[in-house]
Amino acid sequence: MLNTTFFPDSVPPRPTGRYAHIILLRETDSYALFQTDGELNTARVHAGVAQTDMLTRITIFKRKQTTPERLIGRELLRRYGFISAEQAPEGKERKSDDRGVLIDRAGLPICDYNVEFCKQCPDCIMYGFAIGDAGSEKSKVYTDTAYSLSAFDVSHEAFTLNAPYEGGTMSRKGEVTSRINEQDHVRPQTLFPAVITVRDPSVPLFLYVLNNVLRTRRYGAQTTRTGTMTNHVLGIVLADGEIFSNLHFTQRIYDYLAERSMLDPVQPIAVDAALSAAREVAAVLVKEDQVAVSQHLRGEELGGFLAEFSGRIRDEAGMRELLQAAARDSAAYHSAYIQKKGKK
Ligand SMILES: [Zn+2]
Repeated sequence: MLNTTFFPDSVPPRPTGRYAHIILLRETDSYALFQTDGELNTARVHAGVAQTDMLTRITIFKRKQTTPERLIGRELLRRYGFISAEQAPEGKERKSDDRGVLIDRAGLPICDYNVEFCKQCPDCIMYGFAIGDAGSEKSKVYTDTAYSLSAFDVSHEAFTLNAPYEGGTMSRKGEVTSRINEQDHVRPQTLFPAVITVRDPSVPLFLYVLNNVLRTRRYGAQTTRTGTMTNHVLGIVLADGEIFSNLHFTQRIYDYLAERSMLDPVQPIAVDAALSAAREVAAVLVKEDQVAVSQHLRGEELGGFLAEFSGRIRDEAGMRELLQAAARDSAAYHSAYIQKKGKK
C-alpha cells in the first residue's frame, strides 16, 4: 500500500523535498489532435540514449496534459458542492465570506477559471493560479512535454475531412464544395511515456491529483468522439527529489525495445510490449537517479492499491469524502499562507 507517512500532514509554505511521482504510459484510444496552428506538434530528438539516430516524434505540450486533468477535478468539485457553478458576478452582486473568498447566494466559493480564482480550493492550491496583482500560487504539479514512443511516420494519419451537402454529394448546382480539409491525426494506440510530479502534497491532495489522472479521458483538440486517451499508471515513486524526465524515459524504453528487436520501423509499437518494457525501464531509472527513494509502489502492490482506490472513488460517498479531505487541506493552506498575504 501507499506509504502515507511520507506525506506532510499539511502543505508546507516552502518546498520540503517530498516528491510524489506518478509514472504513466498515456495511450490514445482514438484519433487525437495535439496541435498548434493546424499542425501536429513534433520534435526531432535522438531515438534512444544508446540509439543515437534522429527521430521525429509527436509531442504533447505540458498544458495539453494538465488542463484537461484540472478541468476534470474542477467538475467534480462543482458536482459535489465544494465550489460554485456560477461565474464571478460584477459590482453589487459580489459577496464574500469571512475569509474574503467570493461566494454565491448559497454561500459556495466561486472559482472562475482563469478569470477569478478562489485561491482556496484543491485545484487552486495544487495546480496554482496567477491573477495579476491579486497574487499567485505556483503549481505543485509538475509536468513536461511528452514524446511519442514511436516515430511520427507510424504515429499519424492524414485525414481528409469532407463536409458534404445534405444530399451527401460534394457538389451543388454544378460547383464542387471547397469544404474539404486535410488534417494530420495521432493514431490510436500511440504511446506517450510521462511522469507527473506532485510536490509536498498532503495525502488527500495527492489522491485528488491521482484521481484526476485516472479519470481524464479527453485530451487535445477534439470533437465529441475523438481525442480519448487511457492513462496507464505504472508506478508511484516517493522520493526526496525529482526523478527522470519524460524524454529520457521515452528514449530508454525505445533502447530497451530496440535491443530486443521489438521495433519495426513501419509498424506501430505493440502496447503490451511497451507497457512491460516501461515497467522494467522505470525500475532501472529510479535506481539510477540521484535521489533517496522512500517507496516505489509498482507491480502487484500498485495493482492492489489502485484497485482499492478505484473502489473508493466509484462510490459517491467515497468520492465526496476524498474531495472533502482535499478541500479541508487546501482551505487550511489558504488561511495559513494566502489569506494573510492578502491582508497586508
Ligand atoms: Zn479555486
